[in-house]
Amino acid sequence: MERHVAKILGYDVDLFSFDQAVEYIVQKSQMQSTQTITLNPEMIELGDKNQEFSEILKNADLLIPDGFGIKLALKIYGISQERIPGIEFAGRLIDYCAKNSLPVALIGAKEETLQTACQKLKEKNDGLNIVYARNGYFKEDDERAIVDEIKSKNPKLVLVALGVPKQEVFIKKYKNEFPNTIFVGVGGSFDVWSGNVKRAPKIFRQLGCEWLWRLIKEPSRFNRMFPTLPLFLFKVIINKK
Ligand code: UDP
Repeated sequence: MERHVAKILGYDVDLFSFDQAVEYIVQKSQMQSTQTITLNPEMIELGDKNQEFSEILKNADLLIPDGFGIKLALKIYGISQERIPGIEFAGRLIDYCAKNSLPVALIGAKEETLQTACQKLKEKNDGLNIVYARNGYFKEDDERAIVDEIKSKNPKLVLVALGVPKQEVFIKKYKNEFPNTIFVGVGGSFDVWSGNVKRAPKIFRQLGCEWLWRLIKEPSRFNRMFPTLPLFLFKVIINKK
């Protein structure tokens, strides 16, 4: 399966449909370990300031459009693209692993959140085999032992919820020590799966306005989103010309 990409401010964003993206990463992981990154404008902004992070974005095996801003940028380039929310992408991979009796590892979030998320995921996905679960609050010194333990469990899927950019850096650093493993950085997904954080109502999600819902619920996010989004779109428009 060939990648078909659009360049947004120097980054190759994949234009797969949701189903194709899952299929692509499952296929590729039969040959090597893979890193999937779900991209939003804040990550592109971070890449501008941080060369290491920029390289990680460029070397991802799959860079999928998560945020509303990326979808809008593609629209500016005349491309109509299905959004692939990271949490739903990870959910589909969990489903795939459960159905095929493949082991899954989870790393990240607070201990209680993680445990509740594991329990809820098992209730929802018959046959799900979680072979490793570790909260995301550990010292750098413990990282080596943690990675060795995950390796010893041979997971097919490793979901890393340490926030951006920690999760991307972690995956980049260790993925090549694993054979045929699918790594995905999933941000706040464990918080949602545990039930601690609610996703936006369906109507907001269908309209691609999850960001607006979050903004209403958590107005302090405004400082983070603004001026990132308008500035990002401005750069996209300039770049088009
Ligand atoms: N997190 C973690 N360890 C850390 C920092 C964050 O496990 O050192 C977890 C946090 O508990 C949350 C997740 O990372 O479950 C994502 O956090 P956030 O929503 O801030 O992520 P982002 O918006 O960067 O995707």
